[in-house]
Amino acid sequence: MAESEVNLLRRLPAVAAVLATVEAASLVERHGRAVTTDAIRQVIDEAREVLRIAPVEAPTAADLALRAGELLQACLPGLRPLFNLTGTVLHTNLGRAVFAETAVEAAVEAMRHAVALEFDLIDGVRGERDDHLRGLLCELTGAEDATVVNNNAAAVLLCLNTFALGREAVVSRGELIEIGGAFRMPDIMVRAGARMVEVGTTNRTHPADYRNALNEHTGLVLKVHTSNYRIQGFTAEVGARELATLCDAIGVPLLNDLGSGSLVDLSAYGLVKEPTVREAVEEGARLVTFSGDKLLGGPQAGFIVGDRALIEQVNRNPLKRALRVDKVRLAAIEATLQLYRDPDRLAERLPTLRFLARDKADIDAQAQRLQPAVAERLGDLFAIEVGDCLSQVGSGALPLDTLASTALLIRSRGSQRALEQLAASLRVLARPIIGRIADGALRLDLRCLAEADEDAFLDALAQLDATDLADIP
Ligand SMILES: *Cc1c(COP(=O)(O)O)cnc(C)c1O
Repeated sequence: MAESEVNLLRRLPAVAAVLATVEAASLVERHGRAVTTDAIRQVIDEAREVLRIAPVEAPTAADLALRAGELLQACLPGLRPLFNLTGTVLHTNLGRAVFAETAVEAAVEAMRHAVALEFDLIDGVRGERDDHLRGLLCELTGAEDATVVNNNAAAVLLCLNTFALGREAVVSRGELIEIGGAFRMPDIMVRAGARMVEVGTTNRTHPADYRNALNEHTGLVLKVHTSNYRIQGFTAEVGARELATLCDAIGVPLLNDLGSGSLVDLSAYGLVKEPTVREAVEEGARLVTFSGDKLLGGPQAGFIVGDRALIEQVNRNPLKRALRVDKVRLAAIEATLQLYRDPDRLAERLPTLRFLARDKADIDAQAQRLQPAVAERLGDLFAIEVGDCLSQVGSGALPLDTLASTALLIRSRGSQRALEQLAASLRVLARPIIGRIADGALRLDLRCLAEADEDAFLDALAQLDATDLADIP
C-alpha cells in the first residue's frame, strides 16, 4: 500500500468518533445502540473501500453518521404493507385474505389486553378456547360441534391422526391432491400415521370401489374437494351423500375436506358457486374441514365441524395442543364469522368478497382515473394504457374461473429490461407495488386497489426514481 493511501485511511474517523456525533445520538435514540453501531461499522468499511480505489477526501464523522442513518432508513420491515395488483385476490405468497376492519380491531384489542381465552366469565372457572367460535361455527354451518386449528392442512392431519392412526384411510385416486407449499395428501397420510388405501382410477371411481375397500381396519374415508384442478371428460365420482350412506352403514366416519369451502353461496355475488360448508354437513359427512383464509376471508386457520362425539375425540388428541390457534387470531376469526350473520352487508364489509364481487365498470373507471397520474409519474420512457385483463380467485379456489377486470398496462418505449427493472424498483418501494409481466407489458390489475387507497398508491409511485431506467440498454 502506498504511503499516501495509508494516510488517507488513517484519516477515516473511528466508530467511537462517529458515535459521538449529534447525528449518531439521534440514530441511537431511534434504532438503539447495537444496530446503530453496526450500521456505522458498515459505512466505515464502505468508505475504506472507496478510499482504496480512489484517493478522495475522507468523509467526516458527521458524514458517516448521516450515511448510517440512510442505511438504517432503508432497512424496511419485510412484512410491510404492499399493493397486490397481481390480479390474484387470495394470493398465498402475499398473505391470502385481507382482514375485515372489525377483525383488525378485534385482533389489536386482543393483542393489547388480557382476554378470557380459556376462562368462563359467568362462572369464573377455567373455560375452553374453542368455545368462542363453537356457537358461531355451528350456527353458520348447521354442524353439531366445531373446533379450530392452525390451518386446513393441520385440520386434515389432525383428523387423519385421530381416526386412522395405524389404520386405513380410504381415498379416491382422483382426489390425491397436491396444494401449493408441498401439501400432498399421500405424504400427509404417512405423517399422520395412516395407511393410505387408494380406490378407483384417476378419472373414474365407483361406489363399489369404496365398498370393496372398507373393512374392519378402515379408520376413515376421505373425500377431498379437488379445489385446484378439474378432471373432465370420461369421469365418475361418488358424491358425498352416497359415500356418507356407505360409510354410515359400516360405522366409519367420512371426512370431507372442502379446502376453501365457503359459508355463503357465492353465486349470489355473481361468482361461480363453491360447495358451501352447510351443504357438505347436510350431505352427511361426519367431519368437514375448510380454511379460514381462502374464500372465507379471515385469518389463517383450519376449521373442523361435524358430529359432537367425533369433534370431542379430535379435541382429546394431544396433537391438537400443538396445532392450536392463539388469542389474536381467535379474536379476528370471531369478528370475521360475526360478519356472516349479516349477509346483506357482507360484501361491503369483507374485503375478499368485496374484491371478488367488484364490478368491472367500477375497476374501469378507476383505471381511467389513475392513468394520467401514473403516466406522469413514470415519465416518457413508459407508455401506460388502460386494458382488459382477467383476475383469479387464487389459493387454489375456483382455478378455472377468471374474473373480467381492468389493468394499467405499462410498456417500455426503451428496452424490455427497462420494464423488468421498473417492476423490480416497484417491488422495493417503501410500500411495494406488485404487478405481473405478461406479453411484454407490466400489468397492474386494479381489482384489489380500494378506492380509499388510490392516494396512497400514487404516493408510493411518487417515491419511484425512474431516472436511471432510461439508461438501461
Ligand atoms: C387449500 C387446501 C388445503 C390446505 O389448506 P390450508 O388452509 O392452506 O392449510 C387442504 N385441502 C384442500 C382441498 C385445499 O384446497
